[in-house]
Formats: sequence, C-alpha cells, structure tokens
Amino acid sequence: MDWEVVIGLETHAQLSTKSKIFSGASTQFSAAPNMQACAVDLALPGALPVTNRVAVERAILFGLAINATIAPRSVFSRKHYFYPDSPKGYQISQYELPVIRGGLIIIRVEVNEKSRPNVYKKSIKLIRAHLEEDAGKSLHKDFTGMTGIDLNRAGIPLLEIVTEPDMRSAAEAVAYAKTLHSLVVWLNICDGNMQEGSFRFDANVSVRRLGDQAFGTRTEIKNLNSFRFLEEAIQYEVCRQIRLIQNGGIVVQETRLYDSNRGETQAMRHKEDAHDYRYLPDPDLIPLIINKDWVDKVRRFLPELPDAMRCRFTKQYSLLRHEADALTTSQAFAEYYEQVVSKVGITNAKMVANWMIGGLASHLNRDRLSIGETRVSAEQLALIILRIVDGTISNKIGKEIFGIIWDENASDNTAADRIINSKRFKQISDISSLEAILDTVIATNPKCVNEYLSGKNHAFNALVGQMMKATQGQANPQQVNELLKNKLSKHSK
Ligand code: ADP
Ligand code: MG
Repeated sequence: MDWEVVIGLETHAQLSTKSKIFSGASTQFSAAPNMQACAVDLALPGALPVTNRVAVERAILFGLAINATIAPRSVFSRKHYFYPDSPKGYQISQYELPVIRGGLIIIRVEVNEKSRPNVYKKSIKLIRAHLEEDAGKSLHKDFTGMTGIDLNRAGIPLLEIVTEPDMRSAAEAVAYAKTLHSLVVWLNICDGNMQEGSFRFDANVSVRRLGDQAFGTRTEIKNLNSFRFLEEAIQYEVCRQIRLIQNGGIVVQETRLYDSNRGETQAMRHKEDAHDYRYLPDPDLIPLIINKDWVDKVRRFLPELPDAMRCRFTKQYSLLRHEADALTTSQAFAEYYEQVVSKVGITNAKMVANWMIGGLASHLNRDRLSIGETRVSAEQLALIILRIVDGTISNKIGKEIFGIIWDENASDNTAADRIINSKRFKQISDISSLEAILDTVIATNPKCVNEYLSGKNHAFNALVGQMMKATQGQANPQQVNELLKNKLSKHSK
C-alpha cells in the first residue's frame, strides 16, 4: 500500500525590532532575567498596549515579498490560555482578520532518487501571516523544586506564517523552511538565529492512502528549532502514523513534542480547537489600519529578491545556475560579489565567482565566519584577481596570497601588492631565465620526455609540473606550455 504524506507548516519568526510589539521594553537577547519586562509585559493592572509601527512594517514588507494581500484593516485578538510564562492569561494575536493573506513561496527540492540527483520546483501557498506577541520562558535548570519565570521574551513581536497543507515529504518541508528562512533574513525583518529561537516551526503532519481525496487526521509537532529536527521529527511521525493505521489504530489530533535525544515524537496534549481559546477582539487595541500610502512607503524598502537576483546574475555575468545560487545565499555575499566584479571588470565575472565559491566560501566555512566577518575584503580579493589577470602572478600564487591575507587579517586594501613585492611572488616572465630552467628540467626528466615523444600526452603535464616546482610556482604556466612545446618539438627532430 502506498501512502502520501501531507504537511503544513506554521513558522514563528521573531521580527527584529528594537522594542517589543506592544511595549517600549528592549528586545535585546541574553539580558539577565526580567530586566527587559515593563509594566505591559508583566500585565500590571492598568498598563495598556500600543502597537509597534516597525513590527507592522516588517509584516507589510514580508507580504509584499511573497505577493500576498495586505489587509487594509486587521484586528488584534486575545487568545486565552493559562500558562505561567504568560501573565495576562491571554496572548495578543490575530485571528479572523490577519494582516497578511495568501501569497506564494517557490521552493526547489533536491532529491536523490536511486543516487541520481533530481531537482524540481514547487510553489507552496500561504494561508496567512499574522502578528502576535511571544510568550515568556519557564526556567527549570537553575531551580530545584521550583520554576523560574523570565518575561524578557514576553512581547517580542512574532510573525506567524502559515502554509496550506501543500508539502508532500519531509524534503519539501525542509526546502520550504530553508527558503522562508533565507527570505526573512534577506528582507532583514528577522535575524534568523535558530539557536536563540528567533525562527521556529510547528509541523502539522498527516498521512493518507495514495489516491484518497480526504486528508488524514493530523498531529502538530511543536517548537522545532532546527532544519534537522524538522526533518527527523516529520520522518518519525510519518512512520508512526502509518504503522498505527496499519495495525488497525487511528491517529488522534494532538500536539506532540520532538525529543531529539531519543529521535521520537511524544504526545503532549490533545489539540485545542479554536473555540477553546475564546478568541475575542482586544478592546485595548484599535484595529490595525494600513492604507495604500503606508504600503507604498514600505515598498521602497523592498530589496531585489533572491530569485530575481539569481536570474539577473546568470544573464548579466554569464554564470551557471548553481553559481548564481551559491553567490546569492545572502545579500551580503551577493554584494561582495558585485563589489569585486565592479573592480575587476565584467569580463572576469566568472573568475570572481570561482574565487568566491571555492576559496572564499571554504575559508569562511572552515573558520565558521559569516561573510560580514571575512578576513579578505572585496577590495583585497579584487587586487589578487587583477594581479592574476595582468600576469604578475599565477593562479596558484594568488591562492597562496589569499591565504596569507586571510591569516594576517590584513586591513590594507593593497595587501596583495605588498605581499607580492615582499616575497618575490612575481612571475618569472623573462624568457631566457625560463629557458635555462626548462633545459635543466628536460635534462633531468628523460623518461617523461621520451614518453611524451612516443605520444603519451600526460607526460607533458608532468613536465610542466616539474617546471612549476623548480620555479616555486613563479613561472607563467601558459608561457611554460609554449616554451616546452617548442623545445620538445626540436627534440623529436
Ligand atoms: P489551527 O489553527 O488549529 O492550527 P489551521 O487550520 O490554521 O489549524 O491549520 C494549521 C496548519 O495545519 C496549516 O499549516 C495547515 O496547512 C495544516 N493542516 C491542516 N490540515 C492538515 C492535514 N490534514 N494534514 C497536514 N496538515 C494540515
Ligand atoms: Mg496553529
């Protein structure tokens, strides 16, 4: 029996604002407990919420980026439940009238079918995205027989982004999650820090027999804070549900938690229905009115989006799709690329791409640095590339110089020239010295020479290699190639 998996994701993205969504308290992460909770966050009697304009503008920007409808009028509601980390006894959220409705996110899913990589595109429809406040935190670690409550997080603005049940595998869910993550970071509306909880998912998962029209009963796995946990939790849950049904059981609609140590989901509570929350419009807050002028004002901050930029990169710089992808993983990386290209000329755009995807990215990965923390600046890389292009140094020496600048964390823009001059990295391009060295290489490698003369082409490369070694990489490989061909052709006569 074949099964089909159905997944809908709810994502909570903390919006990066200086102050909270309904109070003036700071949102800075890692302050001492309760140092950033004011009267509104503590729910002291008489304290009134006021909506943070910037949080609304972040939501509008998101709506524009995904081609959604931005509601001219939306309403904040109270969602009632009791939990110690929410002193009001309710959470301010949006219910019937969310600020964002509809919209699309296009994902690219990579699957390894029978070890053959395959990529397909799919668009995931969003139901809505609404504004709400985050809850505080219960602290269990530092207390015995007691629980501490930290309300610093209470009131941090959240955008809850809800998809249609459009995803059909854990791979699709992860692809969506990653795309959404890079989009909110790209838009600069969320810092995307998953360890700090700035971006977390609830996964709704159900299964049905292939061909069935109706969806199966779903469970909701709460608070997944990494792509890996999202994938593992879905995979586990899918197996659990299928096994359950095959053994004659039924799936109950419930909330589950993923235990990453045991690699399994566990029942947490029966799922509440909306009516359990007694949603009602918050009488302390006026409806959120967003007119066209406001939307147009926000639209001016909409950056070129990743897909559009990828498309432009492939055309403008003649790059391959995967190169454009790699260069647009973040706005800062793409900006670095265009800065280097503007200095070395568009004819060398491909070469810049290779340097960034190879050298730069692997150095960043190795040292776990972001592009903002790079130890070789765009100016410095541009000069290395210019010196390779103008023949001063070889590609190999360029790499060595890149490594030196990286290790020095040099701050001078002309570091490449400084290092070339100090270490005699310049290429030997004076023909007579090259020829002299080449003669020695030929004389000391008779085996290679004979092999080449008897038609074995790889022997030629071996000789070039010997030459580069003899000159410590300072010879110009192209020049060596020509000279060597010349000399060998005389040998054969
Ligand atoms: P609630 O408000 O109770 O969480 P919603 O109807 O808003 O319920 O749906 C929440 C999420 O669950 C959405 O992302 C939706 O796509 C998803 N979903 C709904 N039904 C199913 C189902 N049968 N299987 C998987 N996901 C589902
Ligand atoms: Mg929900």
